[in-house]
Parts: sequence; C-alpha cells; structure tokens
Amino acid sequence: MTNQTTPAIKFDNVSRHFGDVKAVDGADLEIRDGEFFSMLGPSGSGKTTCLRMIAGFDRPTSGRIFLYGQDVSDLPPYERDVNTVFQDYALFPHMTVADNIAYGLMVKNVAKAERLKRADEMLDLVQLSGFGGRKPSQLSGGQRQRVALARALINHPKVLLLDEPLGALDLKLRQQMQVELKAIQKRVGITFIFVTHDQEEALTMSDRIALFHQGKIEQIGSPSEIYEHPASAFVAGFVGTSNLVSGEVAERITGSDITFSIRPEKIHLGSINETAPSDNYTSDGTVRDVIYLGLYTRYLVELEGGGDLVVVEQNLKTTSMDVLKIKGQRTRLYWNKEHISRMGA
Ligand code: ATP
Repeated sequence: MTNQTTPAIKFDNVSRHFGDVKAVDGADLEIRDGEFFSMLGPSGSGKTTCLRMIAGFDRPTSGRIFLYGQDVSDLPPYERDVNTVFQDYALFPHMTVADNIAYGLMVKNVAKAERLKRADEMLDLVQLSGFGGRKPSQLSGGQRQRVALARALINHPKVLLLDEPLGALDLKLRQQMQVELKAIQKRVGITFIFVTHDQEEALTMSDRIALFHQGKIEQIGSPSEIYEHPASAFVAGFVGTSNLVSGEVAERITGSDITFSIRPEKIHLGSINETAPSDNYTSDGTVRDVIYLGLYTRYLVELEGGGDLVVVEQNLKTTSMDVLKIKGQRTRLYWNKEHISRMGA
C-alpha cells in the first residue's frame, strides 16, 4: 500500500564504496511522491551512483533503499517500478519513433493497436505529434531527447530517473527543455529524480534539491532555501555566488566571532554619509573594481580594516558611464541582518 506520506524513495544510511573511494557515504534521503527532485553536485560527488542504486544497476555496500515503502535494496532492475532516461538517449536507430516509444509495451506483449494508441498519446505529451513514422536520425537532439522521455514514461513507472538528460543540448534548447520537462512532470504526476551538475538547471526545475559533495549530502531543501540559507560554505559557493566572511572581518561587522555568507545582491552600495537602518549590518569601504555586465554591475569593495565584499546591483537607471565613475569612491555597504547565513563549524 502506498499513501501520501510514504516517500517515493527513502535512503536509510546508504553507502557505496569502491575500494577506498567513498562514492556515496552514509546518505539519508526522503523523496516525496510526485516531487521533482534534483541531485546536484560537482563531478564525482556521488549523484550518478545514487541514481544507479535506485535503478538497481548498482547495490549499496551498506544501508537500505525503499521504493514506496518496499525495501528494494536487493531487487534486480526489472523488478523495480522505475525507469531511466540517459543523456545519450539510447534510442534504437533502425526503429521508427513510434516503435521506439512503444518498445516497453512490445516487451510486455501488449497488442499492436493498443501500442500505437499509447505511443500516439505519448507523442502528444512530448509535443511530437506526427513524428511517429520518422527514424531517430531524422530528428534534432531536442526531439530525440523527447522521444527518450516518451519511451521512459509509456509504462507509467512510479519513479522516473533522469541522468543529465539535457547535457548534450545547446544552452537555448536546454532552457526550453527545462520548462517543458517540468510541465510534463506536472501533467503526468510521476516522481522525477533529476541528476545535474548545473545549479541553474536545478534551481529552475526542482521542488527540492539535494546538494552532494564528496559522497555526502550537504543540504536538502527547496531552491529558495538552498539559495537563501545555504547550510555550509560549500553550498554557498556552489549555488550562485556568495561572500564568505569569517575571522576578524566577521567580528568587526557583527560583533561576534562567526562565519557567515551574504549574497552580493543583498548588499546595498550606499554613499559614505548614508545612515543604515538599525536592523542592518554595515561596513565602510572603497570601490576597487567595477564590472559592467549590462543587466547588472558587479562591484568589488575593499573594506576599511581589511577584507572585501562583492556587491551586485541592477542597472535600473544607471549606464556603463555612471557605474564606472564609482570606481575609487568610498562607500557605505549595508544589508539586512536576516540576509546572512551562519555557517556551521
Ligand atoms: P558526474 O557528474 O561526473 O557524473 P557524479 O556526481 O555522478 O559525477 P559518480 O559517478 O557517482 O559521481 O562517482 C562518484 C565517485 O565514485 C567518483 O569518484 C567515481 O570515480 C567513483 N566511482 C563511480 N563508479 C565507480 C566504479 N564502478 N568503480 C570505481 N569508482 C567508481
């Protein structure tokens, strides 16, 4: 029996070691039913190994994996109600698009008329109606990726695993597919687990994200939680850009010996005689570098007494000439105290 509260996937202290390499090390995780969940992290952080263990292509060295409450740790891939979409599509080149999509039904001996009907529904879902008679070689990269998605969804798996599925596409197409993929996931309501090393992709699509670092999960949270309240210096640095402040500089600003991160766009670049609101931290400095980036400008400010902070401001009214004049000027930086994230030890 499954219900709303049974997680789609649960990792109970899962490790996968290859000799000395701790690919995954003591991971605890709960992925909710119907969730778009991303595993994000740099290369080699253990994401794909986690996905392979969910699919059953690999087994944990220790710990248990549950699929809707059932312990699947020792089940072979074909006995798990999950399907995988790979980056390289893995389509059969000699089959038509419709036959590729219906392949999973053919293996299950579903009658031809039913297969074609369901393949058509899937073609509709991925916006490829009318493409059923083509061969994969007659499709673009983005279209092939949609066929791979349709093929993986036709059996209505409980969980769909996607391993960097957009990695081979160019930026524009990738951004378009991100939006489509999310829309398709909403329509079918299936739990999607998406592996990526691209933070923007994870932030765009996910209900929640697990951030991997050296085989361990550093933080699990919604995109805004991860971005606004990074739990560690690693998270703050990997997702977006952040100022990491510690030691003497942090003590001078906050009055206590803490380490914190503050996002560059949260800092106000004021003139030197401005009064900061009382619920703000403040620090005076000199603008040492100005990088005009069209939509916004990035300022590097050297703080009085040591340290520096990066500040980003939108160019709402300013032009490139205006912002360049700021270089060399003294400034009062201030930001709401609530916008800092304190880092653990
Ligand atoms: P990428 O984004 O590059 O795919 P990843 O986060 O998915 O990286 P994994 O593929 O899970 O990382 O690999 C995690 C670690 O485990 C790496 O150091 C990798 O070299 C190692 N590893 C993975 N599979 C094996 C294997 N079969 N034998 C030995 N080491 C392995």
